[in-house]
Amino acid sequence: MADRLFELTTHELHDLLKSKQVSAVEVAQNFIERIDAVDGKVRSFVTTTPELALEQAKAIDEAIAKGEKLGALAGIPGAIKDNMNTRGILTTCSSKILYNYKPVYDATVVQKLGEAGALTVGKTNLDEFAMGSSCENSGFFPTHNPWNLDKVPGGSSGGSAAAVAADECAFSLGSDTGGSIRQPASFCGVVGLKPTYGRVSRYGLIAFASSLDQIGPITKDVTDSALVFNAIAGKDPCDTTSLDIETPDFTKALRDDVKGLKIGVPKEFYGQGTDPDVEKAVKDVINMLAGLGAEYKEISMSSVNYGLPVYYIIAPAECSSNLARFDGVRYGLRSKGSTDTIAMYEKTREEGFGAEVKQRIMIGTYALSAGYYDAYYLKAQKVRTMLRMDFEKAFEEFDVIITPTSPSVAFGIGALADDPYAMKLADVCTIPANLAGIPAISIPCGFKNGLPIGLQIIAKGLDEETLFRVAYTIEQHTQWHKKKPNL
Ligand code: GLN
Repeated sequence: MADRLFELTTHELHDLLKSKQVSAVEVAQNFIERIDAVDGKVRSFVTTTPELALEQAKAIDEAIAKGEKLGALAGIPGAIKDNMNTRGILTTCSSKILYNYKPVYDATVVQKLGEAGALTVGKTNLDEFAMGSSCENSGFFPTHNPWNLDKVPGGSSGGSAAAVAADECAFSLGSDTGGSIRQPASFCGVVGLKPTYGRVSRYGLIAFASSLDQIGPITKDVTDSALVFNAIAGKDPCDTTSLDIETPDFTKALRDDVKGLKIGVPKEFYGQGTDPDVEKAVKDVINMLAGLGAEYKEISMSSVNYGLPVYYIIAPAECSSNLARFDGVRYGLRSKGSTDTIAMYEKTREEGFGAEVKQRIMIGTYALSAGYYDAYYLKAQKVRTMLRMDFEKAFEEFDVIITPTSPSVAFGIGALADDPYAMKLADVCTIPANLAGIPAISIPCGFKNGLPIGLQIIAKGLDEETLFRVAYTIEQHTQWHKKKPNL
């Protein structure tokens, strides 16, 4: 087994490290070899950091030798989406405009993983500035789906999801503004958690849309999701939107028990365009839960229909403001040959940003401009409040809402490139939880044509514990999470 350590989960690796059956250096080496063997095909990473991982592993082995207590993530290889700052290590957002940018500080989540003893094996590819659903918008190269290299891994955290599915790391971090953790987790057959807005610090996450962005774990199973979440959650004085509440031990919520659980099944999440095989796989699981003592009811949440249009006003509006800082003065690329400052700003932005990012900056600037603000931005904010209230109402009656994560399985690389609207539909089921600020998790629930199907569980704000309990129960009664792609 020692030669295939990379196949193990975080908690399995932890047990081997703790009982001294393997060393952290052996674990690190094993994953580094795995990356060397498969990343030429999958291309999950923008940057790999093998020396750093080995150095961190040596420190863990020394701590073990001294008899120190081993934390849950100590000696476990993780990967970080390349929109989170890592001190002295390239952080690109998969954008040419951040060419050669090396941050002077670690994002709080990176610092917390370091304190927990996790190893960093690299920085993963994404759609430029996290805008996209396929990783095809990366300014560098597309990532491939480990289950079928001709398909996309989803996005924007496509590299993070593919790296976990391809066993290039035991876990990874993604960020989710409209589905960017859950949709790629679904396409790659792994577990992705978008926490409640404010549970995890965003300090050092390069902002896309600040009222929606949230960092979360991508893992091989639900137990690992709770373990990584334990390590990164909590109040951070550097992020005023992080919540000053206690972080419970989320592993305590991992119980095989759904007796009396009330599940809402809103028909709007199973609307036109949902692949019937995806719908069937999700509904089979809901029926299975009913067999285990849960109750479900089909309901209607009409405001969900406005999720996409509201998101595509609010997210671009916020991004147009957040991305104003990339002007060639402070970070990365500076275009050459301009005679004055304004021309330099313009040329840098023209050369540095890709088409999708430019389009969003333009839409956002338009939606915020005098004369259009009330008609677009303000109206979108009002509809956002309606949507949030609809969820609050639903959670008076139900403990969770269950939906497909995405209406389809992974599509072909290039298949939707000419149809940006179809691409945006890939997020129709995930966007509402971001707008409402509530937690949601995607777990594997079946396959179609050899490609994973994802199921989404949504709970009320701060109730990640119920998400973990339901997801864990499903995992105990199915085998989907144990399947591996053939690489
Ligand atoms: N796919 C969505 C978008 O393009 C969501 C991205 C995200 O969550 N970062 O905006």
